Amino acid sequence: MTGQDREPLSPLERAAGPGGGWYRGDCHVHSVLSRGGELTPGQLAAAARAAGLDFIAITDHNTAGTHDAWGQVAGNDLLVILGQEAVTQTGHWLALGIGPGQVAEWRYGVRDDVIAQHVGQVRAAGGLCVAAHPHAPYPGGVFMYPFEGFDAVEVWNGLWSSDLPWNADNNAAVAEWGRSLAAGIGAGRWVPAIGSSDTHLDGQIAIPHTVVLAGELSTTAILAGIRAGRSWIAGSAAVTLSLEVRAGDRLAGIGEHLETSGEPATVRAVVGGVPSGSVNFHTDRGTVHREPLPAEGQGTIEWLTSAGESAFVRIEVRHPGQQMAALTNPVILS
Ligand SMILES: [Zn+2]
Ligand SMILES: [Zn+2]
Repeated sequence: MTGQDREPLSPLERAAGPGGGWYRGDCHVHSVLSRGGELTPGQLAAAARAAGLDFIAITDHNTAGTHDAWGQVAGNDLLVILGQEAVTQTGHWLALGIGPGQVAEWRYGVRDDVIAQHVGQVRAAGGLCVAAHPHAPYPGGVFMYPFEGFDAVEVWNGLWSSDLPWNADNNAAVAEWGRSLAAGIGAGRWVPAIGSSDTHLDGQIAIPHTVVLAGELSTTAILAGIRAGRSWIAGSAAVTLSLEVRAGDRLAGIGEHLETSGEPATVRAVVGGVPSGSVNFHTDRGTVHREPLPAEGQGTIEWLTSAGESAFVRIEVRHPGQQMAALTNPVILS
């Protein structure tokens, strides 16, 4: 998709409402039906609303046991996407947007060579498949399947992080994903990133979550936004962000493609809620630019590049001490 015909967004993220906008959601949430899960559907829905989320996906381990319960707690202000976490022998993946009561097969490992078949079934029915926590530090938690065939990769998972919502496993996942973009975007294929809390306990929801541009708050529209990479990851609802690239009179946002026609490209990032943080610009040449945010945490940063210099631009916003506050999918330049 090109950004050429799109109306420019306001500098701050457009509030979601009728006609669409940016919606905040947590795509990886467990209930009491998952091992270690302590929250009921009612408690999860209340926590999601309190955290400022517009949607959640229920992803219990290998069961659809709560699917029937969500109709009573969802509402016009909170979309619940039915899903599952398939806990296989060599990695976990999320099936999002599956039918009520549907369960994806999980009893296999990478050596069985059947992952493409099971992922393909979910995708053929309109669902979205996410490689979950690819560097989780426990047996079976590391994702051993190729990312090929998956719609997104969960580069930021909030659960296995001890006290901090960002850790070495997430750093490894983002670094691996950044390398895959450099190789893949030129070839016309790349896998968008998402971030989610992997909530099991009270206090975990929305840390982090994914902010998705969608035409409306529906499962189909939200999954389409994630699939297209029109999303960014927020450490909390206090963090706001927009990223746009302009060349001449053409404009593209996150996940979109900008045809620059050889003109200079102005990258504009507007960030809020990250006091004394930093905004880091990444391209296929690595980290290419970095600017501090003021103590009040709100700032607009512009950086000039070109399609010749940068095949894509994405940003990472860090708190002091390098904890991640937000990161975006790329804007693609040609
Ligand atoms: Zn898992
Ligand atoms: Zn999980």
